[in-house]
Amino acid sequence: MDHFLYHNGLLHAEGVAIADIAATVGTPFYCYSAATLTRHYHLFTEALTPMPHLVCFAIKSLSNVAVLKLLGDLGAGMDVVSGGEYRRARAAGVPGERIVFSGVGKTREEMRLALTGGIRQFNVESEPEMRALSEVAVSLGVVAPITIRVNPDVDAKTHEKIATGKSENKFGIPIARASEVYAEAAALPGLRVIGIDVHIGSQLTELEPFEQAYLKVADLTRRLRSEGHSIERLDLGGGLGIPYARSNEAPPLPTDYGALIKRTVGDLGCEIEIEPGRLISGNAGILVSSVIYVKNGEGRDFLIVDAAMNDLVRPSMYGAHHDIVPVVEPAVAQDLQPYDVVGPVCETGDTFAKQRALAPLAEGDLIAFRSAGAYGSVMASEYNTRPLIPEVLVKGDHFAVIRARPTFDEILSRDTIPAWL
Ligand SMILES: *Cc1c(COP(=O)(O)O)cnc(C)c1O
Repeated sequence: MDHFLYHNGLLHAEGVAIADIAATVGTPFYCYSAATLTRHYHLFTEALTPMPHLVCFAIKSLSNVAVLKLLGDLGAGMDVVSGGEYRRARAAGVPGERIVFSGVGKTREEMRLALTGGIRQFNVESEPEMRALSEVAVSLGVVAPITIRVNPDVDAKTHEKIATGKSENKFGIPIARASEVYAEAAALPGLRVIGIDVHIGSQLTELEPFEQAYLKVADLTRRLRSEGHSIERLDLGGGLGIPYARSNEAPPLPTDYGALIKRTVGDLGCEIEIEPGRLISGNAGILVSSVIYVKNGEGRDFLIVDAAMNDLVRPSMYGAHHDIVPVVEPAVAQDLQPYDVVGPVCETGDTFAKQRALAPLAEGDLIAFRSAGAYGSVMASEYNTRPLIPEVLVKGDHFAVIRARPTFDEILSRDTIPAWL
């Protein structure tokens, strides 16, 4: 459930009419609902209670500092995958002891940043990274708490670009080699092994791959303990999917996911961490756009809108579906008609939807792409020198621009012409 609903025939974000925001901010823009973010975070904390746990929001899904502050103030931890994201978490006021650092390519500089600024744990993904982290920690006179990410070799049954738990993927160490790698980690002077990490992919629409992975983690916990390691913490990753097409999708609920965690690893006495991104942020955001032209092509009508693939890349990158709704609620009896919904970018890939049945639309009408909160604004670019679009946060009757649209002067001033040219 989210808080983007029609009231009196007009789409609202909580108590604010989308058309009012559009009139102030201009289109296109992203709009997030604080109540929805809050609700989704609480679904996870409730699902994991009474196990000791920390829900670490995967910042990479939606990284605006205002959103991080909102979640951080509720008690959320943060999962970061770069020094930049670490800085965002800290700028939002999240203490180091609630930040976990994931990712296959952490640099020594990023390790130093987190070790000096405070960190809950590093989720280490390879032996060379482990050795580098130990060296950096020793040079700073500290000890780095780590989990090691294991690759359980399970099929997450999701889009190939976001599946991460098969042995051919670049992530983690093969679970079969875990004993050897944990033994080396335990012997390194700059590291303290505290747990195990696993993350098998994103937008999972079934629980079964999680079950397979977590059962393997449970076995591994027992084995590593028998080999003398102290395994106190299990980081079970993120990846729970969301319904993108409301009409025909029903991915598992956080409560069922929580029950699965209890069933598979609940008896080990470990603190549980999870790293959900999409399920917290995805349906908490929409992308609002307006129709520039309706173009009648050969055998099909194009809705040319002012948002494009540079603003929301998921349809062209992953073939992803986003529900599209008009901001003015169509009359119930209105016939739908098929449109190809496209942006202005000079690529055929700049297509949001083909032959999508929508109530008739005209120039200037506002539309909203639903489920755009996760992997939307964070993956945006300025391709075609289209300014990064603003982000707006709504809470109750309030809204605020939480990232402003840059001016063209700002964009152009980033380029410099060398004196010798
Ligand atoms: C991407 C990612 C997540 C978040 O995945 P969602 O599908 O957004 O929940 C969590 N942990 C790691 C290590 C990731 O790479």
